[in-house]
Amino acid sequence: MKGAPCSEQFDDIYFSRKDGVEETRHVFLNSNNLPQAWEGKDSFVIAETGFGTGLNFLSAWKLFEETASDGQTLDFISVEKYPLTPEFIKDALQQWDEYFEGRLDILCENYPLRIAGFHRVKINSKITLTLIFEDIADAFPQLEASVDCWFLDGFMPSKNPDMWSIGVFEQMARLSNAQASYATFTAAKHVRCGLSDAGFSVEKIKGYGYKRDMIAGKFLTKNSASASVRKIIKSKRIVIIGGGLAGTSCAYVLKQYGFDPIIYEAGDHLAAGASGSSRGMYNPRFTARRGDISNFFAPAYAQFITLAGKFSNNIEHNPCGALHLMDTPEKKKRFKSLIDHWGWDEAHARIVSAEEASDIAGVNINSEALFLPDSGSVKPTEICKYYARDIEVNLNTKIEDLANIDADAIILCNAVGAKKFTNLEWLPLESVRGQVSVFNETKLTAKLKCNIHYGGYVSAAMDGVNVIGATFQKWHDHTDVVDEDHKMNIENLKSALPALEDEDLTAHTGWAGLRTTSPDRLPLVGAVPNMPNVYISTSFGSHGIVASLSAAHYLADLLRDGVKSLPVNTAKMLNPQRFIDRTLRKSGKFRKYTAKL
Ligand code: SAM
Repeated sequence: MKGAPCSEQFDDIYFSRKDGVEETRHVFLNSNNLPQAWEGKDSFVIAETGFGTGLNFLSAWKLFEETASDGQTLDFISVEKYPLTPEFIKDALQQWDEYFEGRLDILCENYPLRIAGFHRVKINSKITLTLIFEDIADAFPQLEASVDCWFLDGFMPSKNPDMWSIGVFEQMARLSNAQASYATFTAAKHVRCGLSDAGFSVEKIKGYGYKRDMIAGKFLTKNSASASVRKIIKSKRIVIIGGGLAGTSCAYVLKQYGFDPIIYEAGDHLAAGASGSSRGMYNPRFTARRGDISNFFAPAYAQFITLAGKFSNNIEHNPCGALHLMDTPEKKKRFKSLIDHWGWDEAHARIVSAEEASDIAGVNINSEALFLPDSGSVKPTEICKYYARDIEVNLNTKIEDLANIDADAIILCNAVGAKKFTNLEWLPLESVRGQVSVFNETKLTAKLKCNIHYGGYVSAAMDGVNVIGATFQKWHDHTDVVDEDHKMNIENLKSALPALEDEDLTAHTGWAGLRTTSPDRLPLVGAVPNMPNVYISTSFGSHGIVASLSAAHYLADLLRDGVKSLPVNTAKMLNPQRFIDRTLRKSGKFRKYTAKL
C-alpha cells in the first residue's frame, strides 16, 4: 500500500499522505526535541495516544537505537481502542520496510492478539513497548508510569473528540514528569486551552505539509517529587527460589530487562513440582464480565501465545485450538456474557454451534461451545528448560533461611514452600492435588483435532496419546498416581463427551502434582509485605503457564521502577498485601505476625 491508510469510522488518515515518516520526524520527534531530550537519561518514557500503524513507535525506536548510548532504555506506551491487524500494519508501512531495517517485521511478529487490555511487548534489551488496547478514558486512569514525552496523535479533534478530552489532559498531568514535553499535529483551540488548563505550556509552531500550525510544549507545574532523573538500572543480582514455571519465567524475563537472575531449586531437576506435567493446556481464566481478573489472565494468555509461537519446537507446542463446552446453563450464560464484554476480536474467541463444534473437534459435540483458535497445549517441563537455558541454575539447593542470601532482591517462586521461611508462615497458600491420565489414542480419540474443556479436559492426540486432566483434590497432598483418579478422569470425560462412551480408554500412565492456590483463588504477585527486597510469584492454580509469564514482567517492572505492565487495580488485586489488609487482620493472625517482627 502506498500513501496513507484511512479510517472509515473516523473519516481521517493515520498519517500524512505526503510522507508519513517525514511527518513523524517533524511533528513528534523534532518538536519534542528528540534525541537531545533523552541524552544523559538512563531510562526514557514516551507515551502516545493512538498506536494506529505503529509508525511513530517504529520511528522513535529507530532514532533511539541510533542515538542512545549503551545501557539507556526506552519505554514506549501507546493506547489504541481499535487495533489494526499486523497484516494491515505490514502492508501500510511496507513502503518504509528498508528504512526501518527489520523493525517492521519484529513489530508484526510481536504484535499482541487483538484482545482488550494491557499488553507488554519486550522488543529487546533497550526497547519496551506497553501497548494498551483500550479506550483512552479507561486506560489512562489505570496506567502507572512517569512520562518524559508525549505524542498526541488521535484523529482530528473535530472527528475524534474522545482523544482530546479534558480527562485525557488531566491524566497526562498526573502521569508527567517535571518538564515532560508534548507535541501534536493539531493547533485546535480547545486542545490548546485544555492542555494549558492542565498545566502545560502551549507554543504554536509550523505544522507539517499543508498544515499551517501545530503545537508543542512542556509540563510546568509539578511537585519536585517526580524529578525526571532515574536511577541507573545496573545488572542487579536477583535470587529466585524455585525452578518451576514461576521461577524460570521470572529468570527468563528479568534477564531481558538487564538483571542478573540466578535460580535455586531444591529438587534435582527443573519443574520438580506442579510444573512437571507432561502436557499443559493454556487458556485464560473465564469471567462473565471484564474486570481485574480478566485484565490479568486475558493479556497473559495473549502474551504466552506470541512467545510460544516463537519457540514452538522447543516446548512441544501444539497450537490446535480449544473448545470450551457450554454444557451447563451457568457456562452458557458466562461465556455469552464474556463474548459481549471482554472486547476480543472474533478471530480470537467466538461461540460456535454444536454442529460447528463437532466439525472443529473431529468428534461429535452435543452443546454449543466457546472456541479459542489460538489456544493449545505445551509441555511445561520443556518450557521451564527453555526459560532457564541461559540462566545459572543451582539444583539440589534448598534455601532454608532468606537472611543468608546475598542478593539485591529475592523472588519466592517455591509455591507453598514460601511459608516455611521465618516470618512468612502467614502466607495463605494451599495445595490442590491434580492428577492427569495419559492413554493411547483410540480410533475415535485420534480424530480429536483440538483440546476440549468441560471442567476437565482432553487433549488433541499428539504422538499417539491423549491426556485427560485433571482431578482437583484440596483434601489430598500426595503425588502418587492412583488408579482411582484415572477412573475419575475417564468417567468425567465420557460423561462430558458421550461420543466417547464406548471407547476403551485405559490410562497407561499419568502424573500428579500439587498446584498452589490462595483463599481467594487469585495469584500472589508483588512485594512481600514487611520484607524489604523480597518478592513473590505464586498461586496460579491451573493457569500457571500463562500467568507466570505476565507476573514475571510485572515483577521486572517493580524491580526496575519502570512503567507497569498491569493496570493499577489488577496489580492491587494480586498484591500479597491484600491478605494483611483483609483476612489476617480479621483473624488476628496479623497481630501475631507483627509482634514477631
Ligand atoms: N500514531 C499512529 C501511527 O503511528 O500510525 C496514528 C494514530 S491515528 C491518527 C489515531 C488512532 O487513535 C487510531 O488508531 C484510532 O483507532 C485511535 N483511537 C481513536 N479513538 C480512540 C479512543 N477513544 N481510545 C483509544 N484510541 C483511539
